[in-house]
This record gives sequence, C-alpha cells and structure tokens, in this order.
Amino acid sequence: IWFDFNLAIQETVQDLQHTTNKHILVMDFRETGKIYADKERIGQVMTNLITNAIKYSPHSNRIIISTQREDNMVTVCVEDFGIGIPEDKKEKVFEQFYRVSGSKQHTFPGLGLGLYISNEIIRREGGKMWVNSTEGKGSVFCFSLPVTNET
Ligand code: ATP
Ligand code: MG
Repeated sequence: IWFDFNLAIQETVQDLQHTTNKHILVMDFRETGKIYADKERIGQVMTNLITNAIKYSPHSNRIIISTQREDNMVTVCVEDFGIGIPEDKKEKVFEQFYRVSGSKQHTFPGLGLGLYISNEIIRREGGKMWVNSTEGKGSVFCFSLPVTNET
C-alpha cells in the first residue's frame, strides 16, 4: 500500500516508547513523502531495530531515529550509544541465528533472528540494510527503500 513513511515510522516509535521508561526515543525526521511497500512489515523491521537498540544499550538512554529522502530513496537509521559490534562481526549479525558472544557483565536474551528477518524483508521490498558500529561506543542500523512514482 501507499503510506507516509515518516508517519508510519513515528507510529512504531511511539508504540515502542511505551515499552521503556529508561530509554528516550528521539525522532529526527526530514520530509520523506509516501512510499509503496508493505507497511506492517516495515513496522516489524523498525520494531526489531529499536528493540535491539534498547536491549544492547543498557548503560545509555538516548536512541536516535532519523529519516531522510535523497532522490528516489528514503532512509531510516536507528542509532544507539550501547555496546557496539566488533569490526569483524558487523556483516555476520545479519546471518540466521548469529549472535555476538556476550560480554562478561551482561547476558542479552535472543535467538539471533531479528536482523536476519529484517534484512530479508528489506531486500524483498527492493531496499538494503547496513550497519555502522564501534565496539563500546554504539551502533547505527539503517535501511533504504526505493520510492516509485505514484501512478
Ligand atoms: P532476536 O532474534 O530476539 O532478535 P538477537 O537480538 O540476538 O535475538 P538479532 O536482532 O538478529 O538477534 O541480532 C543479532 C546479534 O547482533 C545480536 O545477538 C547482537 O550480538 C548483535 N546486535 C544486534 N543489534 C545490536 C545493537 N544495536 N548493538 C549491539 N549489538 C547488536
Ligand atoms: Mg534482536
């Protein structure tokens, strides 16, 4: 369906803000317009990225969700200031059942499926997903989707 990208992202962010007292989900949105995609699945991807950002940043409280539009692409990024991902594990996190082995101070529950599923959804919608991260500093997960002209 056609939907306003920012509005859909905002709805998911507001739903998830209700699940945490500790973390503040900051929205930094630029005009995106409408896209044609599976709105529910995009919401599912956002939920996976934001729940990860919350889970893997136990000692910081800010999470920044930003959107932008460039040419015929919309991009959304979820940035946290948490544990980060070691350089050599950055590509592996998108694999099925892959989890970075836990630190000594913390154990984080999970199956290692969220990012695999998210990446598949975005790929099937014709987009792509990537991560920038520094171990011990934080992570930024982004995905882009194409904007096709409304006819
Ligand atoms: P679930 O299936 O419940 O989502 P999960 O969170 O372990 O379990 P993924 O979401 O696929 O699985 O993430 C895979 C791994 O990537 C995680 O186990 C974690 O090691 C790492 N990871 C994902 N997001 C982050 C993040 N924001 N910061 C640091 N590490 C992350
Ligand atoms: Mg996860």
